[in-house]
Amino acid sequence: MKQIKKKILFGEYVSGVGLKKALSKKPDEVVEEVKKSGLRGRGGAGFPTGLKWEFALKEKGDEKYVICNADEGEPGTFKDRKLLMEQPEKVIEGLTIAGYAIGAKQGYIYLRGEYIYILPTLEKTIEQLKKENLLGKNILDSGFDFDIEIRLGAGAYVCGEEFALIESMNGYRGEPRNKPPFPTQKGFRDKPTVVNNVETLCFIPYILSKGAEWFKSFGTEGSTGTKLFSISGDIEHPGVYELELGVTLNEVLELVGARNPKAVQVGGASGICVAKKDFDKPISFQGLPPGGSIIVFGENRDMLKVLKNFLEFFVEESCGQCTPCREGNYRLLEGVEMLEKGECSVRYVRELLTLCDVMKTSSKCGLGQTSPNCFLSILENFKDEIIYR
Ligand code: NAD
Ligand code: SF4
Repeated sequence: MKQIKKKILFGEYVSGVGLKKALSKKPDEVVEEVKKSGLRGRGGAGFPTGLKWEFALKEKGDEKYVICNADEGEPGTFKDRKLLMEQPEKVIEGLTIAGYAIGAKQGYIYLRGEYIYILPTLEKTIEQLKKENLLGKNILDSGFDFDIEIRLGAGAYVCGEEFALIESMNGYRGEPRNKPPFPTQKGFRDKPTVVNNVETLCFIPYILSKGAEWFKSFGTEGSTGTKLFSISGDIEHPGVYELELGVTLNEVLELVGARNPKAVQVGGASGICVAKKDFDKPISFQGLPPGGSIIVFGENRDMLKVLKNFLEFFVEESCGQCTPCREGNYRLLEGVEMLEKGECSVRYVRELLTLCDVMKTSSKCGLGQTSPNCFLSILENFKDEIIYR
């Protein structure tokens, strides 16, 4: 259990120390420190944060933006909510450092519509940090000006996808765009924009104040640092846990009091469903995907019902812009309903598995590319229970 004990985000924090250190460096030195730390995005995809910042820093022009993606909508995920409610000054400090590093004077927090009750806390924190000269004009007498505005989402899951989020902020319908160009090239108002998840930004003040080497002492070589997990389902102690990357699923299950679990959904609805044979695997960017959520299913759960629930969600939340996702999710759900009634042939199941491959390779954004994961992993691991019911 050694790997479970060490903490960063739930450890000690002094507001402004990381920012002061950042402002004493040149922007490219700040980027270099974040690159050296090995920090990878905590929104799900795990792209190297320092590299993303470097791309934006190298773009020409002095109108650039940084956006905190607080549109946490993955089913079973509630870790960013905890950070926004309990550690708002850390989120804002991380965003301010990101702004300094890439040369942006304006930052935004795109807050999930359903989290409207956190808005007053964020607004109060912004005002307080301005009074302390940690935000606003001439921050800590460094000559750096940076302000933050909050934008509210309106309940669409797809707006957590960065281009849908940017389109929504631009005043259009929240729909994903093809990449490239990436937001670091052409983002908010068509200007270079960095979009980082809440949790990613919270690590930044620590990396600056304590150094990249200190951060790398947590986790594994290819998956540095700790990770927050929202853990729920058939367990005794649900909640948000901070664990070192590289922890095994078995260690997590023991910690949260999971008695005889049959399956675990790692990474929310768009993640994968893991069966007992893989519980000894590590959770890391090289192992089981370290998304924000872990949902545990006990031995009496009907896995076809679990699958149906996830697919109903994707049918509802697909933005409908591209055919593989709009039609594909609907067909997968229809197949599950046929399986429920015992009306689905093995041959048709095989066709649906091929459809999953098509969706993964030809959908426009992460929603359609990852929504077949639940179908593929649940069918593979629980074939006997689902097909031969
Ligand atoms: P992605 O791999 O396309 O991109 C990841 C990030 O890296 C993006 O910010 C992208 O702009 C950047 N990037 C990648 N290549 C780049 C390049 N060459 N230059 C500049 N920037 C580059 O993934 P995505 O579609 O942004 O995210 C998909 C993930 O989101 C999935 O893994 C899923 O788990 C996760 N997700 C999270 C939630 C949540 O609530 N946190 C909800 C749904 C999905
Ligand atoms: Fe919209 Fe789905 Fe296509 Fe993404 S994959 S653009 S959510 S239809």
